[in-house]
This record gives sequence, C-alpha cells and structure tokens, in this order.
Amino acid sequence: MSKHNTRIAIGIIVGVCLIPALFFWPKGRVDIDGGYREVMGTFARVVAVASDSGIARKSIGAAFAELQRVDDLMSSYKSDSEISNINRNAYEAAVRVSEPTFEVLERAVYFSELSKGAFDITIGPLVDLWRSAAEANSVPTKAELQKARSKVGCEKLVLDSNEMSVRFIVDDMRLDLGGIAKGYAIDRAIEAMQKCGTIGGMVDVGGDIRCFGTPPRGKNQWLIGLQDPNKPQDWIGTSKPSLVLKLTDTAIATSGGYRRFAMIGGKKHSHIINTKTGYGSTGPASVTIISKTAADADALATAVSVMGAEKGLGLIEQTPQAEAILVTSLPECELIKTSGAEKYIK
Ligand code: ADP
Ligand code: MG
Repeated sequence: MSKHNTRIAIGIIVGVCLIPALFFWPKGRVDIDGGYREVMGTFARVVAVASDSGIARKSIGAAFAELQRVDDLMSSYKSDSEISNINRNAYEAAVRVSEPTFEVLERAVYFSELSKGAFDITIGPLVDLWRSAAEANSVPTKAELQKARSKVGCEKLVLDSNEMSVRFIVDDMRLDLGGIAKGYAIDRAIEAMQKCGTIGGMVDVGGDIRCFGTPPRGKNQWLIGLQDPNKPQDWIGTSKPSLVLKLTDTAIATSGGYRRFAMIGGKKHSHIINTKTGYGSTGPASVTIISKTAADADALATAVSVMGAEKGLGLIEQTPQAEAILVTSLPECELIKTSGAEKYIK
C-alpha cells in the first residue's frame, strides 16, 4: 500500500472508531440545558449531564443557588454582603468572615503577589473614583488619583487565618472582588453539581466558563466559542465565534476593556484599572485564560489585561496549568497565544 493509501486507511479506521464514540448515548442518560438566569450583574447558564432528569434538574438548581450565595457574600454592590461589611468596619477593628470569603481573599492576595500588584482586590477606591468620574463626565484630577492610589495595595490588607478575619491598615480602603468572585462562584457551582451526582456539567457566568466530565449528546468534548472582541456583539454574545475551544475538566475566563468601560469626554476608559497609573488599563482587547479552576482563570485574565501582552504572556508561560489567548486592539487585531494553548483550539 502506498503511503497515501495507508493514511486514508488509518483515517477511515479512526473515523469508524470515533463515530460510535460520538453517538453512543446510554439509555436513560440525559443532558439538560438550564437556560440563562440573571446573576452577578450578568447572565449565567448551567448545563447538566446525568443518568436521569431528576439528578440533572436538581444539580442545575444547586448550581444557580451557589452562584447566588457567592454573590450575596461577595458583591460590593450589596450593602449586606460580607465584603460591604469589611469595607465599612475593617479599619476600626478586624472583621471575621465566612470560610468561602476568606478562601477567596487568600487566593486573591496570592495572585496579587504573583502579578506584582497588577491584580489587586484593594482596587476599590480607584473603582469608586472612576465610577463618580463617569457620572460627572470628567476625568479625575491628579490629586484625586493620588489620594485613591494611597488607599490601594495588598500590603495594607491583613488576613488572619487563625481568626479568619480581615483588617485594613489605612482608613477608607475598599475591597472589590469583581475580578475573581465570578470565577470562584463558578467553581463552587461545579462542586455543587458534582455533589448532586451529575456525570458532566458546564457553568457559564458572563462568558467565564468551567466544565467537567461527560459532554452533551453528540460531542466528545465540551466546545466553547470565543467572540471576536473587536466586533460588536449582542448581550449574550451570540455572534459567530471567532475561535472554538475544546475543553475537558477545564475553566476559561475572558477579560478586556472591550465590553465594559466608562465613556468620559468621548474617550473610553476600561473598567479594569492599572494600579500603577490609576487609569483604566490600555492592555489587549481581550485576554482569555485557560486554567484548572475558574477563580484562577478569572484573576489571571484580569492580571494579564493590566500587565499587557508581553509581560502578561511571560507570566502565564511560567504559571503551571495555565494558557492564554490574547487579541490585541484595532487596527492590528493580532491573535497571540502561549506555547501550550494550541491543543485547546478546535
Ligand atoms: P469582567 O468583570 O468584565 O469579566 P474582570 O474579570 O477582568 O472582567 O473584572 C473586572 C473587575 O475587576 C472590575 O469591574 C473591577 O471590579 C475589578 N478590577 C478592576 N481593576 C482591577 C485590578 N487591577 N485588579 C483586580 N480587580 C480589578
Ligand atoms: Mg477577572
């Protein structure tokens, strides 16, 4: 047989073997799409694969409940959240928090150190300043930026793991978990689904996604579309994806100034803030991180958005079990990725 014919024969054999794998679907197995629900200021979707529809529906309910629980604990928009309580009281005295909140705070400080402060959950005073600036349609003054920056920095945050408490060293500090809480909520939701006995599942919160186990009928991996950040899109991002990722037991998160920004005096200011300058990040149009957990992917995506393409990719190359896919801004719209990212692209 010629080399060419051998290749065709191997192709046919592989194809024939794969077809049953793709369409074999044991009797009784179900996949249920729980649809979209509003949570954490965006839309969340949960899909479950299980041996019966009761388990699948129960796990979808448990996942949405977990997303809501994390939002109730960690949102800085909710005055009765643990984060708002910390923000009101942690300068006067150390504030005790629940195990999930403490876990996120510790992880966030880890990423702050790893990214040399590019990712920083003490960013609150700068976030607030830019929010007021957007309402007033005027850029903050140098003095205002300087004052807010003096309240930012994880070295001013004291976490006591014995007491599970949080304390601020400087007055008027404010935590903002907007760059990690979504990912953490997804991880907890996945855990809740697994506890219900699902054999596969996916949780998507505003495009940050984690999936595990058996994919839905007709697929041998979970397929996730990435949008082109430089093209306009609708609220769920239903335009044609520019890239499709194939994932198994993996999470992805995307950050970028392309969707959420403040328009001040006709200029876009990203909601992701560079802690060094105090201004909105001018990094890539989008940064997608592939990692084991959604909390890690979420924090790293925000960090790389601040660090920019070169330094950010350098960080991800050194981080085990993490890959990055970046799209630079117009007019270049260049796609750049880490050395191990290719294996996730369909
Ligand atoms: P999105 O919320 O659009 O998915 P991110 O995960 O990147 O995007 O989170 C951005 C949010 O994180 C901001 O809205 C703000 O609440 C917070 N944030 C802004 N700048 C930083 C920063 N340098 N480090 C940590 N969190 C930040
Ligand atoms: Mg993030």
